[in-house]
Amino acid sequence: MAHGPFDLSGKVAIVTGGNGGIGLGMARGLATAGAAIAVVGRNEAKSIKAVAELSKAGGKAISVAADVTDETAIAAMIERVRGELGRIDILVNNAGMNIRKAPDVLETAEWDSVIATNLKSAFLCSRAVHPAMKAGGGGKIINIGSILSIFGTSFSPAYAASKGGIVQFTRSCAIAWAPDNIQVNAVLPGWIDTELTRRARAEVKGLNERVLARTPAGRWGEIDDLAGIAVFLSSPASDFVTGAAITVDGGFSIVG
Ligand code: NDP
Repeated sequence: MAHGPFDLSGKVAIVTGGNGGIGLGMARGLATAGAAIAVVGRNEAKSIKAVAELSKAGGKAISVAADVTDETAIAAMIERVRGELGRIDILVNNAGMNIRKAPDVLETAEWDSVIATNLKSAFLCSRAVHPAMKAGGGGKIINIGSILSIFGTSFSPAYAASKGGIVQFTRSCAIAWAPDNIQVNAVLPGWIDTELTRRARAEVKGLNERVLARTPAGRWGEIDDLAGIAVFLSSPASDFVTGAAITVDGGFSIVG
């Protein structure tokens, strides 16, 4: 892929929640395209395992332990990435969680933690990388939404609010930072087989059957299904794509 439109050699990417699930699938794609990766997560043992795997794929990778809801930890994380990898070209705001409860029983602290992890973190990390991207002549930010950026559901009010917010935050940054040559886009994954959804499958009766019945592709997504979109939105191939919200859902969201 050297020097092609999808070439990421020489680029540095931060992937929050890159130690597992969708973040790891995206990090694999970016590493294969030549980017150096900073894997950010709270669970360092898990991050170190991911880094070992990514390094084997050829690229340089480091683990940075940080809680993405903590502004001070984010500042330290950015410092380390700039120090060890030299620059920041790509940020994937992927860290996320869910608490599955109806709105009438969701507690205030639960609402706050979902919004902080899924939405505030994207703001804090994006604002923190902006100076480095601007100084480097441009950058790419990928925010992970969900098909719950589009739909509602009875059992995930804070999650849906955070993921709807991600799309509007994406559009706002795309406009604000276009003069800095920073493209900001959202990816809305459908039902992907990860730890997060394995828990959902256990907690929500009939979910597995409903997902399989409604998804035209007839299967759950795998984390590697997210690699291509990550490379595209990180590479020169997407230089005129900004503010978009792109579903990667096997067709789930187009079924009426
Ligand atoms: P996982 O639970 O497998 O991964 C979540 C990741 O986020 C982990 O790597 C975790 O790392 C990290 N994380 C969570 N909280 C924090 C925090 N406070 N600070 C730093 N890192 C954090 O979930 P998925 O891979 O499924 O989800 C990834 C993203 O994709 C989420 O935003 C999710 O909402 C979204 N998504 C997932 C879908 C799916 O079907 N799986 C569908 C649509 C969207 P650690 O524990 O080490 O902190």
